Amino acid sequence: MSKKTIAQVAPATFKGKRTLVRVDFNVLQHEDLSIADDSRIRAALPTIELLRGAGARVILVSHLGRPKGGPSDKLSLRPVSTRLSQLLATEVTQLGDCVGNAVGSFVSEMKDGEVCLLENVRFHAEEEKNDPEFARQLAANADIYVNDAFGTAHRAHASTAGVTKYLQPALAGLLMDKELKALSGVLDNPARPFATVIGGAKVSTKIGVLENLICLADVLVIGGAMAFSFLKAQGKQTGKSLVEDDRLDLCKGLLAKAAEKGVRIILPQDVVCAPEMRSGLPTSCVSVDAIPEHEMGLDLGPKTVEEIKQALSSCRTILWNGPLGAFETKGFETATYALVDLLVSLSAAGVKTVVGGGDSVAAIEARNISPEKFTHVSTGGGASLEFLEGLELPGVACLEPAESVGSAV
Ligand code: ADP
Ligand code: MG
Repeated sequence: MSKKTIAQVAPATFKGKRTLVRVDFNVLQHEDLSIADDSRIRAALPTIELLRGAGARVILVSHLGRPKGGPSDKLSLRPVSTRLSQLLATEVTQLGDCVGNAVGSFVSEMKDGEVCLLENVRFHAEEEKNDPEFARQLAANADIYVNDAFGTAHRAHASTAGVTKYLQPALAGLLMDKELKALSGVLDNPARPFATVIGGAKVSTKIGVLENLICLADVLVIGGAMAFSFLKAQGKQTGKSLVEDDRLDLCKGLLAKAAEKGVRIILPQDVVCAPEMRSGLPTSCVSVDAIPEHEMGLDLGPKTVEEIKQALSSCRTILWNGPLGAFETKGFETATYALVDLLVSLSAAGVKTVVGGGDSVAAIEARNISPEKFTHVSTGGGASLEFLEGLELPGVACLEPAESVGSAV
């Protein structure tokens, strides 16, 4: 069900209103706490700009890292407010807490269009417990709630879910809306043929996604380490490759289901092997029927890459989750990078390409490709996976439905 967004209500709705915006500023930092990657801050800018333009008093709330339920200088959001001030070219005030009287009195003095950032919401253990009293305190200093933190929407925490009990309207921000539209566009009514490429380390973390997509896709490519569990389930020798022996029956079941539904499955036919996952060791490219006993498969071979290219080139929608090989280690990046390049060229030719998963996004970055070259690259690793499993995310479920567009808020 689509959600009401901040672009669907009259801008006057926000004029002078204390607007609590849940953002995902869980950024990567260097040792000296400077920001290593500000893409999550940039991703929230359209929402912040829209609200400022409408005269809202913007109160941003986020978590950073995993504090153990108490304050920690290392996990303060201060470096984020400094960077955000630069990006917005306006002063963003960093507050010392996220609830309480000091926050309340600062917020009541804010001017229209002003922005402040509350301190790390996970400094309070009540946040992750979705404590109702804490959620009420968060709500107490605001008039409107906006959730733009897609990456945290799979968690039912006080600032992502509980707060909406006490603070309405609860609207979707622009990033949240973009993520939901792109991912549901793939699941709900994909232009066909529709291919899903699944890779990554473990079958066990992707069971839900595999089960959901096997019913929806026309073509399913299985790569990465997880492919070896499927190969072993087919009776092949997989040497020292990563295999989850307790999932072989599940792999068999998924292959049977694909056959029954007429889904074309592409498993590796050749793989690049090495004695261990380390660069600089001699590698060999072998058929999956000849994986040496003391070696592990760490990338897909050229024949498999070619088969994937052929199959994907006739598809109109492609969803990718999970690297095809151990791309972080030099020598085993070829198939993953070939897929990245292929998706870029197919996107340019009008194919809808959607990417989810933290390591897949890291592979795109490592390849030095801008996310704009794809139809959509999700900012939410775990959240995008849960969405692709067909689950309803708690942080999305509690937002207002789009049906009430136009009604007074
Ligand atoms: P995502 O975060 O995109 O969902 P995953 O977390 O499932 O992806 O898996 C990513 C990891 O899988 C990467 O760190 C990559 O090195 C690893 N991987 C892929 N193929 C192999 C392989 N053949 N052997 C070992 N590790 C692999
Ligand atoms: Mg991952």
